[in-house]
Amino acid sequence: MRRCFLLLIDGLRPDVAEAELIAGRLPHLARLVKSGGAGRAITSFPSTTSVSYLPFLTGCTPGHCNVPSIRWLDRSRYDGRWWRSRAAVRSYCGYQAGMLDSDISPEVRTIFELVPESVAIFTMIARGLAPHRNPASVERQFWGAVAHYALWHQPSDDAVAGHLLQAVEQPARFVFAQFPAVDGYTHQTDPRAKQVIRSLHLVDEVVGRLLARLGARGELQNSLILVVSDHGASVVREHLDLAEWFRRQGVPTMAHPVLWQKEPAAAVMVAGNGSAMVYAQPDVPRVRRWSLERLRRPETFGSREDLIELLVAEPAVAMVAAEGDGGQLTVADGTGEATLSRTDGGIRYAPSSGDPLRIGGPREATDREWLAATFDSAMPDAAYQLLDQFRAERTGDLIVIANEGYDFRARFEIPEHKAGHGSLIRAHMHTPLWSNRRLGDVPLRTIDLFPTMLHWLGLPLPDNLDGELVWKL
Ligand SMILES: [Zn+2]
Repeated sequence: MRRCFLLLIDGLRPDVAEAELIAGRLPHLARLVKSGGAGRAITSFPSTTSVSYLPFLTGCTPGHCNVPSIRWLDRSRYDGRWWRSRAAVRSYCGYQAGMLDSDISPEVRTIFELVPESVAIFTMIARGLAPHRNPASVERQFWGAVAHYALWHQPSDDAVAGHLLQAVEQPARFVFAQFPAVDGYTHQTDPRAKQVIRSLHLVDEVVGRLLARLGARGELQNSLILVVSDHGASVVREHLDLAEWFRRQGVPTMAHPVLWQKEPAAAVMVAGNGSAMVYAQPDVPRVRRWSLERLRRPETFGSREDLIELLVAEPAVAMVAAEGDGGQLTVADGTGEATLSRTDGGIRYAPSSGDPLRIGGPREATDREWLAATFDSAMPDAAYQLLDQFRAERTGDLIVIANEGYDFRARFEIPEHKAGHGSLIRAHMHTPLWSNRRLGDVPLRTIDLFPTMLHWLGLPLPDNLDGELVWKL
């Protein structure tokens, strides 16, 4: 029986892991990648936990899944009655976490639906997974709460390790294990902190035990092992609380956790906390998004000036994106605007008054050429990722993307985030992709691993995937 093990170390930066590997401090992972490789992949935007698990577990992007962020508002259903209509507003960072499974677009298939012989440990996405195949769901809630209040994340990883090693002994074809400690310690310190590195060393030991057990069972040859992360992280030096920013401009603004706001003119939904979606006049239901031209008009937010102009002048803001009047996407920063559109040839980028994606001029290329050309740039894969966001009906009118060193949430983030993610910057979008099988030389998005895993298990690929089978084993 062929088997696949997907180990996800939440929030691990590839450069941090690579430095430890080169220094010889990850001996078991070094053994793993010796027969395979230690590379990188590009995650999906917004680069934040749960949303960025979707690529691995569905092969589809957040936009396609219609789960564009960890917080969103259903513009067509929300009517301002904040309590009666609370189901039309979402935050997966609380009691609504369990709604993620049913929020995923019904035409998208999870790997658990396609591979019933799966086990998932500490997973936030469980659609299609029988309860006995999700052995740590109670522990995840218990240790998650301990971690939140006591800032003590290692017990979660230890629980995951125990269940992972048990799963080896079961007839599970696909095993998903999520290690949350690296992300937890990163948020309260920094991505290179001692506790982060210690948690990584402990995952290395778990990999050693996994390899030993598979070896003892004679199953190493039949197993694909992937060690990945859902996003990176970077140090936050300054918080620009975006909801407070709108209020300072005189705009009544609703934002989590206190949704009640009389006649709000804006709703701000932050992710990660390096990006946010903004909805104009959220208490009046409407199907269509408003264009950037319309968002610039003072009456849209009831302000005195063009708030978009003020926003892109903030040092914290790298760029904003919204739909244009012609159906294309408009991206704007302090230098001016450019458009992004889908064409028969892939994606076309056309600077008009500015060049926010720093491409240097107009360009049309296929999705995969965009990935290859921008993989190591300051905003990897931004053209593809921004267009993807606007595939989701639930996406706001405006996307706001933070510069490195900043995030968009201060007031209600307890404990304070000293490091974060969620933006389109390289430090957040690059993820490690380590495996016991040889990596190809085609640049990959994390969505591309799904077809590789199904192919390894000998299963047919659904025809609506965003990921492509470009890494064949
Ligand atoms: Zn994460």
